[in-house]
Amino acid sequence: MTVNKFYVTTPIYYINDIPHMGHAYTTIAADILARHYRKKYGHDHVFFMTGTDEHGAKIQESAKKRGQTPKKFADEVVAKYKQTWKNLNISNNYFVRTTDPEHEKAVQWAVQKLYDQGDIYKGVYQALYCVGCEQYKTKSELIDENICPDHNRPCEIHEEEAYMLKLSKYSQEIEKRITNDEIKVRPETRKNEILSFLKNEGLEDVAISRKKENVSWGIALPFDQAHTTYVWVDAFLNYLTGLGWPQNMEKTGLFWPADIQLMAKDIMRVHATIWQAMLMALDLPTSKELFIHGYFTVNGKKMSKSLGNSLEPNELAEKYGSDTVRYSVLREFPFGQDGDISEEKMANRYTTDLGNELGNLLQRTISMINKYEVAVTKKETKPIEIDQDIENLAFESALIKIWSVVKAANQHIEAKAPWILAKTDQKELTEVLEKVYNDLYRVGEALEPFLPETATRISKQLEDKQAEPLFPRLDN
Ligand SMILES: [Zn+2]
Repeated sequence: MTVNKFYVTTPIYYINDIPHMGHAYTTIAADILARHYRKKYGHDHVFFMTGTDEHGAKIQESAKKRGQTPKKFADEVVAKYKQTWKNLNISNNYFVRTTDPEHEKAVQWAVQKLYDQGDIYKGVYQALYCVGCEQYKTKSELIDENICPDHNRPCEIHEEEAYMLKLSKYSQEIEKRITNDEIKVRPETRKNEILSFLKNEGLEDVAISRKKENVSWGIALPFDQAHTTYVWVDAFLNYLTGLGWPQNMEKTGLFWPADIQLMAKDIMRVHATIWQAMLMALDLPTSKELFIHGYFTVNGKKMSKSLGNSLEPNELAEKYGSDTVRYSVLREFPFGQDGDISEEKMANRYTTDLGNELGNLLQRTISMINKYEVAVTKKETKPIEIDQDIENLAFESALIKIWSVVKAANQHIEAKAPWILAKTDQKELTEVLEKVYNDLYRVGEALEPFLPETATRISKQLEDKQAEPLFPRLDN
């Protein structure tokens, strides 16, 4: 007998930064999926995980600058992440940290297994080194992949001993599984992108370790203590260690493989290659699906701290409420594409869609029911059909469908004018208000995964027949 289950992950976020709107976007989307599937499959059959990626040279350095230990620094940033997810009503089942002792042990167990079976071997890694910085650099940190931006001179190529993962061995199998959707990559454009990369360039073996003298803030390789694991091997395994793997095989068996792994496009390639190769090497099923979402601009510009247009999810949630943030980021443009957001757009959604359309509908319906003393009853109604949209991550489309019911109900009230019917036709008055009353229940139910707080308030107000503004006017 197959049991329906759903396991959704966000990437674990690198703690060199406090949570920003991009992190919130991925995490809100995962939360909606988790809430939807909990209703469908039951609470015990859904697992939603997020967490933090905490090792590496950058963290070591940031901590040093502040005169803190890396762990103390990590603890402080992690607390900010946890608070942000609480403020946004995120219902993750677990928060995994790569500094968790169980995670570190599991990573060591996994790399030892891969080393013993020959998937990891000792090789040479060519690294770019800036003499000025006395530091190794990654291509992405450099101008034209070579010039140090701080010293404006080319890096030297240093050859460094490193342990390598035999990624090349898995190239063909990965290509096959992505082609036949055994590893589904969505949207389709992303699938094509990764397939053309695999066909044209193929996979080369990658370094999975750094010399401990260069990066000491990391997990030591059990078979060579002079090395620490490089970021990917450590980070990817979170998707398993958060389930208690390899100790808790019962739970791992229940939830693995992940049904949907969400991420932004910059980390698609490593997830579709290194991570899947690691799973194959560990004799585990590959991910069922990687869903790649786009980036947003803020008022048409790339979001950045230096431009001062960075949107802070905590501030926005405090000002407009968590449901407004959740609604607005998913309503502006289709999930999977790039798009634009801004505080103005969010404020506008608050006033228009949420306040004027939804909030007013609820308030005036309840007050007319009370004023005209109409007896309305809750009926068995057909739910708004949005399940397919949610399961396809077409969140924007689901919200538009819900709002079409809201708009139709408002129009129905305008057309039927209950304030006139109250004097002329008691029977039709009851029919009109009862229809809208039940439509509001349908709207509330459909909104549960998206706007959990608002959904609860709608059903409570309908039940008690006591209206309170859902989205009160803001004082500027
Ligand atoms: Zn430099």
